[in-house]
Amino acid sequence: MEIDLTKELMRIQTHLARAQDAGLPATLTLEEWVAILKQFQGMCAYCETIPFDALDHLIPLDAGEGGTIALNCVPACKRCNSRKCGYYEDRSMSPAERLEKVRYALQYDLSLPREAYPETKQRKAKLMRLTEQDIQAILKIRQAYGIASDNQAIIYAIHVTARQLEQGLKPQTPNR
Ligand SMILES: [Zn+2]
Repeated sequence: MEIDLTKELMRIQTHLARAQDAGLPATLTLEEWVAILKQFQGMCAYCETIPFDALDHLIPLDAGEGGTIALNCVPACKRCNSRKCGYYEDRSMSPAERLEKVRYALQYDLSLPREAYPETKQRKAKLMRLTEQDIQAILKIRQAYGIASDNQAIIYAIHVTARQLEQGLKPQTPNR
């Protein structure tokens, strides 16, 4: 089993950043992740037959719990990952029990119980829908200022609007 360490480092960094953004523990190290991959012999932790292609959180980050920590991360194939999407189990179960339960359900094609996620900050942000007008405005700001991400463009737009408001509130100095 060959592991591309650069690729895996980038993978865990993405997930560490996601956990940090959600205000959750982010402690998974490359060594821990490599040990986990070896434990499952590079296969999906759920079906154990297809090589993994994603890092899956046993308790999804969207649930506002868990985090990117060794106990909460397993390798998963695309198929299992998408099938268990939105699955949220009893929080009192241990990671091993949770893995066993998801594995069993996927194996026998059982429907997985779903639970409503608690309203986390991240969840709320996701639910905020942008209008076509917003999207076009963000795109214009990104192009004009060479900004790489939508989030940065939104922050920039807020600052510009705040500045304009501030200026608008000041008494106008006559030009003549
Ligand atoms: Zn699988």
